Amino acid sequence: MRAVGVHQDAVVVTSRIWQTTCTAIRAGEEAMLIDSPYFPDELDALPALLQQAGFDITALLATHADYDHLLGRAAYPGLALGVGESTARRLRSDPGVAQKELRDADAEHYVVRDRPLSLGSYQSLPVPGYVGLGDQELELHPAEGHTADGAAVFARWAGVLCVSDYLSDVEIPMVHDLEEYRATLSRLAPLIEAAEAIVPGHGSPHDRDTALRLLDEDLEYLDGFAKLPPGRDTARQRAIHADNVMKHG
Ligand SMILES: [Zn+2]
Repeated sequence: MRAVGVHQDAVVVTSRIWQTTCTAIRAGEEAMLIDSPYFPDELDALPALLQQAGFDITALLATHADYDHLLGRAAYPGLALGVGESTARRLRSDPGVAQKELRDADAEHYVVRDRPLSLGSYQSLPVPGYVGLGDQELELHPAEGHTADGAAVFARWAGVLCVSDYLSDVEIPMVHDLEEYRATLSRLAPLIEAAEAIVPGHGSPHDRDTALRLLDEDLEYLDGFAKLPPGRDTARQRAIHADNVMKHG
């Protein structure tokens, strides 16, 4: 697990697996954790690590309902998990799916967890919309297409944009709905223009130019699925590519 500051009030922590990111954002006396790392030891260590960096987490948010982004309450069991309304819908309509997928992933990686994933009473937030944090507000923007649900989170005052599972430098687009995926990329473009640090769900935080380049590469890839974007042509990405071609090619 590694932590990198992207703003005086924002730190990105990256899991040892899948380069899964979570982002802590601070405003006044409050701080929000967006998404989560995966391994139990990372989740155990997270509160102390963030506390040391001056982030006293008071709120949790998940960008979408895939199990690898939902684990915040394993680190902060006393806090409620906030999710966009499309994510709340998906969690309601697929009860137990995230828990089962986490169990399957744990089994594959021989990971033992003290407790199963507990979402508690998650809080549904309007998207597009705002969620208050200290003396500031975070913007929630729809980000669907990778899955049927999703929200991007923009801390405009800090220039930090958490885009969820889009614009990764290590993963090609994993496409659930092609038109929605394209619509999300179009929606993200002006937000990127207004941001300083763009945090993908998997991979490294980007500066604006890198995020815009990845956006162009991803749009080109979606246009016919002809060849993998440069720098992301690995065995695992070719398997994702084959799945994209089968479903949308
Ligand atoms: Zn993910």
